[in-house]
Amino acid sequence: MSGTKEKTSEMENGSRRETLGFQAEVKQLLHLMIHSLYSNKEIALRELISNASDACDRLRFEALDNAALTGGDGELKIHVDYDKEARTLTVSDNGIGLSRDEAVTHLGTIAKSGTREFFQKLTGDQARDAHLIGQFGVGFYSSFIIADRVTVTSLRAGLPKDQAVRWESGGEGDFSVEQVEKEMRGTEIVLHLREGEDEFLSGWRLKSIIKKYSDHIALPIRMKKEEWKDGAETKSDEEETVNQASALWTRPKAEISDEQYEEFYKHIAHDFEPPLCWTHSKVEGRQEYTQLLYIPGHAPFDLWDRDAKRGLKLYVRRIFIMDDAEQLLPTYLRFMRGIVDSNDLPLNVSREILQESRDIEAIRGGCAKRALGMLEDLAANQPEKYENFWKEFGRVLKEGAGEDLANKERIARLMRFASTHRDTPEECVSLADYVARMKEGQEKIYYITADSFIAAQHSPHLEIFRKKGIEVLLLSDRVDEWVVGFLNEFDGKSLQSVAKGGLDLGALEDTEDKADDEKHADENKAMLEKIRESLGERVREVRITHRLTDSPSCLVADAHDPSANLARILKASGQKMPEFRPILEINPRHPAVLHLREREAANAPAAHFSEWANLFFEQAVLAEGGALDDPAGFVKRVNTLMLELSGIGKGAAKE
Ligand code: ADP
Repeated sequence: MSGTKEKTSEMENGSRRETLGFQAEVKQLLHLMIHSLYSNKEIALRELISNASDACDRLRFEALDNAALTGGDGELKIHVDYDKEARTLTVSDNGIGLSRDEAVTHLGTIAKSGTREFFQKLTGDQARDAHLIGQFGVGFYSSFIIADRVTVTSLRAGLPKDQAVRWESGGEGDFSVEQVEKEMRGTEIVLHLREGEDEFLSGWRLKSIIKKYSDHIALPIRMKKEEWKDGAETKSDEEETVNQASALWTRPKAEISDEQYEEFYKHIAHDFEPPLCWTHSKVEGRQEYTQLLYIPGHAPFDLWDRDAKRGLKLYVRRIFIMDDAEQLLPTYLRFMRGIVDSNDLPLNVSREILQESRDIEAIRGGCAKRALGMLEDLAANQPEKYENFWKEFGRVLKEGAGEDLANKERIARLMRFASTHRDTPEECVSLADYVARMKEGQEKIYYITADSFIAAQHSPHLEIFRKKGIEVLLLSDRVDEWVVGFLNEFDGKSLQSVAKGGLDLGALEDTEDKADDEKHADENKAMLEKIRESLGERVREVRITHRLTDSPSCLVADAHDPSANLARILKASGQKMPEFRPILEINPRHPAVLHLREREAANAPAAHFSEWANLFFEQAVLAEGGALDDPAGFVKRVNTLMLELSGIGKGAAKE
């Protein structure tokens, strides 16, 4: 993300004004915003008020250490004003303000994780892109939806009044900055409205927008009162507070509407879309705190980014302390947004203290319980919404199986998996569903892991299960290997990989089949031994199987070895590990196997036999998604066989 800054300087009235280019991504974002979000004009005001409120929060926080910053004006507020003649709309605050350098970086670049992913996802389709920008977060730049020129004048708290900055831009390729004077700390943003945006020049209209989107803002938003003169609206000198101006989470639940909860979410999460659901509660006891937790409606662009910001906003006795306090949530709930307001923590609590604090541990445990409760409720009462949640965040929640042992059972109950009893990977089943459907006499929960749904669905290991109608869970997320590593049982039933160890179907086994197997093992003993010799060190053992109905062979891992899928994942991530030799299982009923046995009886040449043995092994490797050590050798073997079958090969020619 490199900026394309070209500097030109000019002198004007003795003050130095510089023109700087926007970072390329900003230009692109501005262009998109103006062209795709014109039907969401009201959000520009919401975003500016949201930023003003954040700036006041930050000042209040910095003033905890340095009271001089408030400079005798500790009453933080936001002003909204308009000027009909000049056609401007102004939002100002007495918050932390911006220094020159801060204005240049914060209002000229995008420094967000997920930016690259966002730009990669853009398609050029306006409706779709508008939706994506919303998910990405619009912020300050949304002013250009309604303004063709924006002037920001700001004095950083603590700086002398002649070191204020004026930033100005028409929202095209560049912006200017110059040093100016400003009496009061804080930021004033003037929007020079585009042609036709006159609705923002009415006090009545502005107030209704503020009430709708910004009522939850904890600071007073002040505006001049309107008067009606000669049938027209004008401003009086008297001011009034437009919003409720109290922290939303401190209000009684019954007095907060869904819209207010949703707007508050958009403010703290910098999200454009409403959340999926939320939970709001006050906890009393050893630790006293209020929590308001949200599940977003969609995964953010940086969900898988290790450096992404996560966590909740932390307040102490209603004073904002920090954003992204990740200690307040376990990692597997990192997609949650919200606030915690503690009554007990000291105001000077730092990230380091949070890391070690026992009190924080208690809060984190409390938040996890609440969050799981909310998800259980969603799963039980709004299954469609839960499905949506699972699609967006399921893979993250699954990590909880290993991370939160105290809640393992609850997390397992919330998990969903693809299944042989469903047609598509999207239709998922819960472990409880599975257990309820178990066959009479079935004792285990069967699953297979693979690196894709298709590979799992088509695995030869499932053949016998299909024949007997036994359900198998199809696990194809990378995290699934980790899940089954921790989740050994559910509801008293153990989880069993169908590709590991000897197959024991217990009471589901036919006694006739069993007798049959023993007979086959005897009959094929010599052949198995020969295959084993041909394959050498590549296999641990060669044995007869009854897992297969259609395929001639498959590989299984020893009960104590990692599955082949896990071994591949670990290898791909660069981990050193010993070679685990698989067991090759041969289907004695398969015609190709019968054919080989006959040849073997007729004493076919050893080289020929070895080709067959290799083919059985290699196709088993391929069928479970593995890679061959000698793919060219495999291709050659297949071709020889094809020629032989079609009667044009050497062998046929001799006859
Ligand atoms: P976001 O708020 O999501 O970080 P924005 O584009 O809205 O993104 O704003 C970028 C940055 O500009 C903010 O993070 C903040 O540092 C700064 N900023 C915006 N508005 C103000 C303001 N009124 N006072 C101080 N800083 C501000």
